[in-house]
Amino acid sequence: MTNPVSEWILKASQFAEPIVEVAGRAEDLPAKINWLLLGCALQQGISLAELQIFLTELQKKIGDVAGLPAPSENLILSAISKCGLKEWSLAPQAAGIVYSVGRFTRNRKNRLDLWVQSHSPSDIWRECGEIFYMGKSNPLRPKVLVFLHRLASFSHMGAGELPPFPNSAGAKRWLIQANIYDPDENPKEKLKTANSLYRELYPKNPRLAWHALQFFAEPLGDGYFCQKISPCKQCLVSGHCRWWR
Ligand code: SF4
Repeated sequence: MTNPVSEWILKASQFAEPIVEVAGRAEDLPAKINWLLLGCALQQGISLAELQIFLTELQKKIGDVAGLPAPSENLILSAISKCGLKEWSLAPQAAGIVYSVGRFTRNRKNRLDLWVQSHSPSDIWRECGEIFYMGKSNPLRPKVLVFLHRLASFSHMGAGELPPFPNSAGAKRWLIQANIYDPDENPKEKLKTANSLYRELYPKNPRLAWHALQFFAEPLGDGYFCQKISPCKQCLVSGHCRWWR
């Protein structure tokens, strides 16, 4: 018999990732990868749902992340304002990040699909460090880890192993609730702890646990993503959750 946590993981892992979903709307593979890269670079201090709304708004204004002339700062700021994200900690850097992802793409002839297919995950990880706000402050480059693992939904990469699964806000909430979150761990130890959690929760396929935990008590409007599986009072993992409503 499946245990309730595994059952919950299987159900939550059916959700499309919001950023992958937005990227998937672009017209062809190179454009999808551009949007995915941009979404990962912008994922900081913002919920998945808010980022999805912002990226959707940007897609209405800019067809191509790498197009020239590059989108103006005013255009980006007005999209931020329209989405109610003026307080977003990354708002002042967002225009620079959009520009930087566009330049990164142009420097690879606007064919990130070919670049991805001819580079190993570790090469991709290293080169993405060039992008503004994607690798300078944390040597593990957590946003690039997210990019690499989401990229698997779109394209194969050159030979080589994928790095560990990234942390997520949901995984952190799970660890807090289980009293195993240690704020004093360094980023490398935190990543190790998160990956042990994924293996422990779903040993057969830790990727499913990583994917599913992104939705654990993840804000969505007035509620949470995970309430799409069931209301809190019928939730399979309510015993692991203090965000119960
Ligand atoms: S109890 Fe509610 S908030 Fe917590 S995981 Fe379940 S559905 Fe989500």
